[in-house]
Formats: sequence, C-alpha cells, structure tokens
Amino acid sequence: MLPLLVPFEEKDEVKKLGAQWDMELRIWQWPENKDRTSVRKWLPRMYRGDLSSPYIVPALVPESMWGVNLRAILPKEKWDELRKECYRSSCYRCQVCGTRGTPPHCNEQWVFNLPANKNDVAIQKLVRLSCLCKPCHMIKHLGYASVSGQLEETLAHMARINGWSKKQASKEADKAFEDWEERNLYDWSLNLDFLVEKYGLKISLTHEELQDLNQKFFDNMYEKEDNDLLSAFNVCKNICSSLRG
Ligand SMILES: [Zn+2]
Repeated sequence: MLPLLVPFEEKDEVKKLGAQWDMELRIWQWPENKDRTSVRKWLPRMYRGDLSSPYIVPALVPESMWGVNLRAILPKEKWDELRKECYRSSCYRCQVCGTRGTPPHCNEQWVFNLPANKNDVAIQKLVRLSCLCKPCHMIKHLGYASVSGQLEETLAHMARINGWSKKQASKEADKAFEDWEERNLYDWSLNLDFLVEKYGLKISLTHEELQDLNQKFFDNMYEKEDNDLLSAFNVCKNICSSLRG
C-alpha cells in the first residue's frame, strides 16, 4: 500500500475516491496496483507516477547566503506557524518518500538562478516549503551529512529514493559540490515572492541586510565554536578542492 499525505480537512475527499484508512498506522493508503491519477496530489513524490527520477537531489546554499533562511528572517512565531502548517498539511510525513518524520523537518526549497553575465547578481528563489524526513533532509544538506558521519547512509538513501546505483549517487554528490563552488563565485539576491503568493507575507531584504545575516551567522558559528557547522563549512571546501584536484 502507498501512503497518502492527506490533511484532516481533505479526508472525505480521499475516502470518496476509494482510499483506505489504516487504523494502526493512522494513515490513508492507496493500493499500489490501482491507478493513481485521482490521488496524485496526496502521494509522496517518488510514488506519484507522473514525475521521474530524481525525486530529490542536494541543494547547497552558496556561502554568502548561509544564515539567510526563514528562521532568521521571520519573527519566531511566524516561522513556527509556517513550519507547523507545513508538517500538518502533509500529515507529518515526508513529501518525498512518505516516511513519518520523527520529528519532521521543514525544508526551504530554493532554486539557484545564475545570470548570463558573470557580473550580474544571481537569484536565490524560494519555491516551496517541504516537509521531509531526516534522511531526505540530509540529502539537501550534504555537507552537514558528511561531517556528522552520515554521508554513506545519506548517499545510500539518495540512491534508493532515486533508483540509482551507489556510483550514480556519489557522482550526483560530486556534481552538487561543483555547483556549490560555482555558486560561490556570484553575488546573490533573494526572491521571496513565494511568501507573498502563498501567505501574503511581504518581505524584502536589501543587499546589506543579507550580508548582515550572513555575517551574524558566521560570527555566531565562530563565537559558539559550533564544531558541527565549522566542520561542515570546511568539509564543503575540502570536497571542492579534492574534486578540483
Ligand atoms: Zn523522506
């Protein structure tokens, strides 16, 4: 059976379509061999049937944008409200693989648009908030996965989700670090139109404010001697230089 990520208010809708409620797992389910078209929007990405692999890949935020995230930008209550809504709307389950998050993680899904001209500003655009399980979230933050000793299992998870060989997964990881290194060559601005469209939240940050957030992030990291973050940063740098070498 496939898991359906159905928020409470949509339960009658899936019931009518023929979904089955599993009392023990407390989740709506769909038979694997039944046509999925009608319930597609509730299925985790890897089971939808209209999407092809890869279902999840790393997304490494450029160095100058570290610390620039919704947790830092929004008032705490607002960020809590958004992330809790994100968990609730997908039944606290991973939108990629359907696993129950313990606890769930709210991932800011960014796209990184490089300009045609090297001297122009690149744009980091927020496209959605996704509820992910910890192993899927680790794929997004591969640098952190590698310092916390979770690289192997994270690559194995990425291979399993995307139907890749181990070799393919590590090739994709190398590519993610190469992309990261290229992103680091640009000046970045932020596009938060998603927050306006989805939540009516209008937030704009000047270049100085972005730099300030980034500076604060690094100051905090050094001040607190946050070894995890410091090593994540160094590991990303080292992986890049070994790829170059
Ligand atoms: Zn997952």
